[in-house]
Amino acid sequence: MKKIVLSCIQPSGSLHLGNWLGAIQNWVAIQSDYECIYGLADLHPITIHQDPQVLRHNTEEMTLDLLATGIEPSNLFFQSCIPEHALLCWVLGCNASFGQLKRQKQFQEKSKLIMETSSDKFVSGGLFYYPVLQAADILIYHAHYVPVGKDQEQHLELARNVAERFNCQFGIRYFEAPEPLFTDVPKLMSLTSPDKKMSKSAGDKHYIGIFENDESIIRKVRSAKTDCGDGGSAISLGVENLLTILSATGFTDLKNQFAEEYTSGKLQYSVLKNAVAKAIIEMITPFRDKRKILSENREKVINEVIESSRNIQLRAQETVREVCEIVGLFSPFIKV
Ligand code: AMP
Repeated sequence: MKKIVLSCIQPSGSLHLGNWLGAIQNWVAIQSDYECIYGLADLHPITIHQDPQVLRHNTEEMTLDLLATGIEPSNLFFQSCIPEHALLCWVLGCNASFGQLKRQKQFQEKSKLIMETSSDKFVSGGLFYYPVLQAADILIYHAHYVPVGKDQEQHLELARNVAERFNCQFGIRYFEAPEPLFTDVPKLMSLTSPDKKMSKSAGDKHYIGIFENDESIIRKVRSAKTDCGDGGSAISLGVENLLTILSATGFTDLKNQFAEEYTSGKLQYSVLKNAVAKAIIEMITPFRDKRKILSENREKVINEVIESSRNIQLRAQETVREVCEIVGLFSPFIKV
């Protein structure tokens, strides 16, 4: 029996290089070794108000991106097609510690950002509860492994704790405690603020979308922050980030060469940046044709993922039925 892998991504519209190198590359690579279930987590972004049309569009775009990079449509589901996640979320929330939820770094950072930058200063209960829904996403399929970036480590720890507490409360080894699967680049940094992780929420200059056009990729890499190159041995965060991209895209020798040049004070940043932009473009070019074909068949492709969500839902229903029985609830899936 193959081990089960589960991971989800928020449908923010397009995959960025951090998503790809930190997680999705792994998602694609392990599909034949494990039983893989991957979700478009569209219940997650609504923790912060979303324009309904934009949300739907972003979910569709992200679906096309994932399929273009090699995710099998039968492994993919839309979270909102499987309401069982929300039901399990409630049960698990009753086994999650309020203190641990309060200590979640992502909640602290996002709520701080809302308080500092939004006019209504509205921090939703959903934003606070989000890691429990994430635990439900994972535990509902009894996942053994969760391929994620380093930023998700604390959420995964919470999922493990919730699973253990549930088992302990009901005196049954029902849920597995899932383990993370990291890539060689568990945390890619922003191009313009290399002390922060690459993410779309920081703004356009901070990330590279993997389906951006060549000009835009070249422009963004050229404006990446490096340093003034004093020839010291410690590598600046910006240069280190660019070198990381080079080795992660398969140019390890070139990366080593640039690292030596940096140490001896001979590195020309323009040469490094051109090489990095070229490496990124070379890596993503094979995905572009497939992305175009998928986009031309958008409706058919989306319907296919809705269909696969229905198949995956059957597994979620089985878990919810068993959990209801363990907890003493009426299960919606028992025939009378
Ligand atoms: P998100 O876009 O937050 O839903 O993240 C989707 C996946 O990409 C998760 O597994 C994250 O851990 C991973 N990820 C997001 N940003 C980065 C980054 N800058 N470096 C590495 N992995 C990342």
